[in-house]
Amino acid sequence: MKKTPNQPDSPIWLPYTQMKTALPQLKVKSAKGVYLHLEDGRKIMDCISSWWVILHGHAQKEIAQAISNQAKNLEQVISAGYTHQPAEDLAQKLIDALPRPLSRVFFSDNGSTAVEVALKIAFQYWKNLGVTNRTRFLCFEGDYHGDTIGAMSAADKSAFNDVFSELLFPCDQVPFPFTFKEDETADQKEEKALERLDEMLKINGSNYAAMIIEPLVQGACGFRICRTEFLSRLKEKLQAYGILLIFDEVMTGFGRTGEIFACIKANCVPDIICLSKGITGGFLPLGVSVCTEEIYQAFYADDPKKTFYHGHSYTANPICCAASLASFELLQKTQAKLKKIENWHRDNLDELSKSGLVEKTRFMGTIAAMDVKLGPNKEYSPKDTRSIIKAFQDKGFLIRPLGNTIYILPPYCIVENELTSVYQTIGDVLGSLRFHR
Ligand SMILES: *Cc1c(COP(=O)(O)O)cnc(C)c1O
Repeated sequence: MKKTPNQPDSPIWLPYTQMKTALPQLKVKSAKGVYLHLEDGRKIMDCISSWWVILHGHAQKEIAQAISNQAKNLEQVISAGYTHQPAEDLAQKLIDALPRPLSRVFFSDNGSTAVEVALKIAFQYWKNLGVTNRTRFLCFEGDYHGDTIGAMSAADKSAFNDVFSELLFPCDQVPFPFTFKEDETADQKEEKALERLDEMLKINGSNYAAMIIEPLVQGACGFRICRTEFLSRLKEKLQAYGILLIFDEVMTGFGRTGEIFACIKANCVPDIICLSKGITGGFLPLGVSVCTEEIYQAFYADDPKKTFYHGHSYTANPICCAASLASFELLQKTQAKLKKIENWHRDNLDELSKSGLVEKTRFMGTIAAMDVKLGPNKEYSPKDTRSIIKAFQDKGFLIRPLGNTIYILPPYCIVENELTSVYQTIGDVLGSLRFHR
C-alpha cells in the first residue's frame, strides 16, 4: 500500500492526533535548555515546555546526575511495606512547601492518576465517616483533569470526551469566571459563578463529596485565568456545606503562576492537592495527591474496610523521587526568575496588543496567553490551528494553539531576548496568516 507523507511508516499511534491528517513528525535527536535539536540539524525553541512538564530546561544537568546516581543505587522497590530515602525526603519537602494542614502524601505516577486518587479519597472519606449520601461532585466549565474515566467525568464535557459520555459519572458544573486585560465584566462573572453554585448547593448541598478545580489557571481549555480572590470566596461557600475542595495543580504547580503553588498565590488552602507534570522537572512521570490530616484520620482505623485500596506498580519510584528532589532544589533558587518572566510577558503582551492581531491577553507568573483576533467575516477552524503550528515550526518555534488561543509556557531557563523573539514571531506569523482581515 502506498504511504502518503502524512502516514509515516511507523507503528506509533500518537496522542490527540488524527493520524490520517497529521503533520509529518519532527524527529528530535537531543535537547538542551529551551531548544530541541532535530535529526535534520534544525533547532526548535520549546515555548510550551513539551506539554507543560519541563520546568527548568531540557537536560538540566543536576537532575540528570541525580537520576543517574539513583538508578545505580536503588531503581525500584515495592511501595507497600517498603520505603526509601528519596520518597521520605520528597514527601517531607512537599509538605514543608505546602500550606498546613496539607500533610499526607499519596504517590502515583501521572496527573490523571493524581486526580483519580484525589476523587476516590474524597469519595471514600465520607463513606468512612458513615455519611452515605455524599456521592456527587462539583466541577467547573472548561476544566480538564486528565484522560482516565474519573478525570474525564470531573472535567468539562468536550469534543475530546464526548464519545465516552455513557461511561462518565455526572458532575455538576459551575461557570469559570475567566478574565483578561481590560475585561470590565470580571465582577459580574464571579457573581454569576457563585450564584450558580449557591443554587446547586441549595438543592444538593449535603450530597456533594467534593468540588474539583484547576486553581487560577485552566490550562487545556485555553489558559483561562481567574482572579486570586475568587478562590477564597468559593471555598467559603463550600465550607458552609462541609464540601471538600480539591485543587488540581498538575499544571499550575512548581512555580508556573509565579508562586510555588497556586494555592499559595491565592492564599486559599484546599483539602486535597494534585501535583504532577513539573514535579520531576519534566524528566520522569510522577504524581502525588496530598491531603489534610483530617482526611487521613478518616482512613486510619482498625476496620480494614476503611483502607484506601488504591496503588500503582511504580508508586513512589525512587528514580522519579530523586529527580524531583533535584528539581526542587533548583526551584528554590529560581524565585526571582519567575518574577522576571512575568514582567517580560507583560511588556511583550502590551507591545503585541498594539498590532491588533490578538485580543484577550492574559498572564500570570510564567504563563501567558492571547486569542487570535478574527476579522469580521473570519471563522477559525482546526485547519487554522495546523497552519499556525506549521508556520511556527518553519520559523523554529514549538507553539501549539488551543483553538484560537496561543499560549506561552516556557521552561524557566528562557532569557529575555528569547522570549521577545517568541512574541515577535507570533506577530509575524499572525500578520502573514491574516486572520484579522
Ligand atoms: C495534564 C493535566 C492533567 C493530566 O496529567 P497527565 O499526566 O497527562 O495524566 C490533569 N490535570 C491538569 C490540570 C493537567 O494540566
